[in-house]
Amino acid sequence: MSKTIVLKQRPKGIPKTSDFEFIEEEQPLPNDGEVLLKTKYVSVDPYLRGRMRDEKSYIEPFQLEKPVASAIVAEVMESKHDDFKKGDFLMGMLDWKELQVNSGKELRKLDPRLVPLSAYLGILGMTGLTAYFGLNRIGAPKKGETLLVSGAAGAVGSVVGQIGKIKGLKVIGIAGTDEKVAMLKDEFGFDSAINYNKVTDMASAIKEHAPEGIDVYYDNVGGNTLDAAMKNINRFGRVINCGAISLYNETEQPTGPRLETTLIKQSVKMQGFIVSNYEEDFLEGIQQLSQWLLEGKLKQEETVVEGFDQIPQAFIDLFNGKNKGKMLVKVY
Ligand code: NAP
Repeated sequence: MSKTIVLKQRPKGIPKTSDFEFIEEEQPLPNDGEVLLKTKYVSVDPYLRGRMRDEKSYIEPFQLEKPVASAIVAEVMESKHDDFKKGDFLMGMLDWKELQVNSGKELRKLDPRLVPLSAYLGILGMTGLTAYFGLNRIGAPKKGETLLVSGAAGAVGSVVGQIGKIKGLKVIGIAGTDEKVAMLKDEFGFDSAINYNKVTDMASAIKEHAPEGIDVYYDNVGGNTLDAAMKNINRFGRVINCGAISLYNETEQPTGPRLETTLIKQSVKMQGFIVSNYEEDFLEGIQQLSQWLLEGKLKQEETVVEGFDQIPQAFIDLFNGKNKGKMLVKVY
């Protein structure tokens, strides 16, 4: 038998484990041209929350009573596919299932000797590439400038800040605990960091850390933090709208200050993006990130939760800030 996690109901507010259901299925068997896969690592990501809403977006919503899916590293247990053999590790968008059969069409073979398998879901995967392309292509950072990054201790944010340091910027992070603030400064070399849970006036806190103002703001959380950053943005500043996790569980359409006049007066460029916009250039990103990793200029941080049954809770814990770096579930 093999377990599958399906979406039982669409979450209202912060997701709950009761929004998901575990079902038991017979172990599937591969046909010709297929592989039988055993899930090893599951990536849980904030954007999956958007797919749980029945709304039009850049990606289809999950269907009720159907499996949830995310980026997964899996081992080939049995192969009837010419390109893959038993023992290969593959990665792709796969269902939250212990065992599954797949045609391999959209799966990529991984080399476990180059980097730990989990890195393909983090620093050399979607979140590392999001940090790399968002910062470089939209932020266009220049040596000596000041970079502010929110969600700074997470998978994307921790890489953004480190790239900022590699590029010679002053880097300020925003995160949710003192432990994370210490990690940003001591492990990742950020110049300073702010615990947003201890600050009543975020705009003033940013000003204290960056009296010279912010040239590049890499936004992972949106909402009030974005509003506060905009009060400190410099002329010709760049704002990268990568994510808005503080709004993902809102049940009403949030309102906030109008930004038009700040954008005009300060000649600020503000741009959202989806990492797949840069798909054609992913190889460049992977090569550069790998090189920085090998040179010891980039550090990867992961929070690895163990056990297939923990997948829903690990996903929910992204919204409780339980992770440092990339949140992953190790299934075996
Ligand atoms: P992550 O930062 O590793 O994990 C989420 C973190 O968000 C938590 O650890 C928590 O840290 C913080 N958080 C949770 N609720 C919050 C709230 N209400 N206010 C402020 N912070 C909150 O996740 P990630 O995968 O790196 O993603 C970061 C952001 O980038 C997300 O918004 C995600 O949707 C976005 N993203 C966008 C793309 C793209 O293509 N545009 C791709 C990947 C990710 P604290 O302890 O600091 O609160």
